[in-house]
Amino acid sequence: MTLHSAFASELTWPDYAAAVQDGSTPMLIPLGSMEQHGCHMPLHVDVLLPTEFARRVASEIGALVAPAFTYGYKSQQKCGGGNHMPGTTSLDGMTLVNALKDVIKEFARHGVRKFCMVNGHFENSWFIVEAIDLALRELRWDGITDVKVVVLSYWDFVDQEAITKLYPDGFPGWDLEHGGVLETSLMLALHPELVHLDRAVDVVPASFPPYDVYPVKPELTPAAGTLSSPKEASVEKGHILLEVCTRGIVAALRAEFG
Ligand code: ZN
Ligand code: MN
Repeated sequence: MTLHSAFASELTWPDYAAAVQDGSTPMLIPLGSMEQHGCHMPLHVDVLLPTEFARRVASEIGALVAPAFTYGYKSQQKCGGGNHMPGTTSLDGMTLVNALKDVIKEFARHGVRKFCMVNGHFENSWFIVEAIDLALRELRWDGITDVKVVVLSYWDFVDQEAITKLYPDGFPGWDLEHGGVLETSLMLALHPELVHLDRAVDVVPASFPPYDVYPVKPELTPAAGTLSSPKEASVEKGHILLEVCTRGIVAALRAEFG
């Protein structure tokens, strides 16, 4: 059947049920956060980006996209600026684990057997894994043993060739990319009206000691909130990223889901 939307929530229930009940249609779940992304971007960057990757991938492989998780685990200073920043609005780990576990089990009840977690917020990583582990365990107790879950973060599909094009002056590492070239370029390509490049701050890449202290020392986060500079971001770089990550995720899901 032809679905009118890749977004599961836009379907009527009979169309949704017909799409998922035999277990063949993968369900992609974008996971983001509400988190400051510097003075030049909005708080829902980590929601918009994985949702768009999920939409593109879904339309290529015939999957559905679930409503995104719009809150995530607490921002960590070394990869998200820290949870002390205004705007950053986070869940306790157990809340995220329980909510995602519930959602996986609900989709499985409808018939979904192939899942992909499309993560857009680094701090969610291990809580996603915990939710999957608990969901699979409880589904086994219900006699459902054929669920497969792929977990990925879209930036892990950026290959060395793309990194060379994106960072001719040296790659700062994904941790420091918070609000930097990667996210800003993607936002420029997808949602230019939400990016205020004139307000972007050309920060020196943040540097941290090789340990963590809580409560965090706010002065270690650059005042603008990004951990590296967004100044070298561009629409062209955004399109390179869209292409390489979408292609990589499609190949991964074709390999895992057949
Ligand atoms: Zn982000
Ligand atoms: Mn984030």
